[in-house]
Amino acid sequence: MTQTTTTDNPYLLLTPGPLSTSRTVREAMMRDWCTWDRDYNELVQSTRQKLVGLATTQTDDYTSVLMQGSGSFCVEAVISSVIPKAGKLLVLTNGAYGDRIVQMAQVHGIHTTVIDFGELAQVEARAVEQTLAADGAITHVAVVHSETTTGMLNPIAEIGAAVKKYGKVYILDAMSSFGGIPLDVAELSIDFLISSANKCIQGVPGFGFVIAKTSELHKCAGVARTLSLDLYDQWKTMEEQNGKWRYTSPTHVVRAFYQALLELEQEGGVAKRYERYKQNQAILSEGMERLGLRVLLPKESQSPFITSFYYPEVESFSFAELYERLKQAGFVIYPGKISQANTFRIGNIGEVYPADMERLLTAVEANRFWL
Ligand SMILES: *Cc1c(COP(=O)(O)O)cnc(C)c1O
Repeated sequence: MTQTTTTDNPYLLLTPGPLSTSRTVREAMMRDWCTWDRDYNELVQSTRQKLVGLATTQTDDYTSVLMQGSGSFCVEAVISSVIPKAGKLLVLTNGAYGDRIVQMAQVHGIHTTVIDFGELAQVEARAVEQTLAADGAITHVAVVHSETTTGMLNPIAEIGAAVKKYGKVYILDAMSSFGGIPLDVAELSIDFLISSANKCIQGVPGFGFVIAKTSELHKCAGVARTLSLDLYDQWKTMEEQNGKWRYTSPTHVVRAFYQALLELEQEGGVAKRYERYKQNQAILSEGMERLGLRVLLPKESQSPFITSFYYPEVESFSFAELYERLKQAGFVIYPGKISQANTFRIGNIGEVYPADMERLLTAVEANRFWL
């Protein structure tokens, strides 16, 4: 099947999100909804149920909460709603998104300790275990699954085992991975998993969601440090009022997201989508290396979602020029975000297929102005 993206966009987004979406997802937004009408609330409930089904086979023990805003709003909703005053958060970081969790905790005055592994190393479960053994005050542990800064995957199963050995609450920012890689929150002992509409589920931006272990969420009543981002209160309202959001909800975005969930099912579920992303990423990284562009990360820690490439080490290279040329050719790529090396990034998630990756490689080959 040589499927490529429909051409009603001027260029394909090869970014960490928002992504190129299908025409049918965008078309789903072409009507208006009443936020308290049953039609809309049933859509919300069905969406919440489908999300739990994507996250685990043990659906009775988990629930989901939708929250207005971009993904970071949802991360902040969790960080500011689940750690009680007497609690202490351990953040494991190896990039900008882990650092953002630390920043959030600081804003909310949460007692926090950080292990920074550096941008080029994976989080190490052994270090987590040592820290938990040494500091009994820690109650919660947070980590990013796929660190979009570099494209690195962290070992969430090993980390989860350490977190559970010490009986702590496990918070996972799975923003850029959920729906694009098989995982089960129950098997991984995850208590709060955070993601958003515009990443691997391939919806449009406007809200995020949390998959929560229901028994842990129950403990969060009255804990929140903000009103709007109170995760427990948002959940309680959705539960008790059958899919009602507390404040104005992004109705069109929710309808588009529901369509995106149906399209994920049509594709064959998360396992099939993972295969496509892996194939996209393999074509991209192997093809770029053939063209003389080196990949930043070793294969073992490279995610199937976004890849960092070193700048060619010649003065004639300029990222701005490569960006403009590829944009003219129909592809938007992304700047790098790390401090230790000059890199740029190319994402391969969204309505993007192996044939699109081949077309990109042809465009890069035709635009190697630095040679
Ligand atoms: C996209 C992303 C977020 C959220 O970013 P927003 O710009 O707020 O949507 C958080 N964590 C990771 C790892 C991400 O990739």
